[in-house]
Amino acid sequence: MSRPVHVAVGDRVELRKPHPCGGTMWVVVRVGADIGLVCERCGRRVLLDRVKFNRRVRRVVSPRPTPDRSGKR
Ligand SMILES: [Zn+2]
Repeated sequence: MSRPVHVAVGDRVELRKPHPCGGTMWVVVRVGADIGLVCERCGRRVLLDRVKFNRRVRRVVSPRPTPDRSGKR
């Protein structure tokens, strides 16, 4: 059972396998049926379907690590 990975456009993700250019960090540029990623190092753009993406992602680095979802308190 695989848990869906929650990502948003602008998030940075680290994949398990480095890109041939040596980069492991990617920026999410599109979220839909497929996940669009741009390699931070060489700028190469790829599309992965969600199943592949979930398998390949190691961790998600959100621009804001603690999203304020509490509203007012
Ligand atoms: Zn690359």
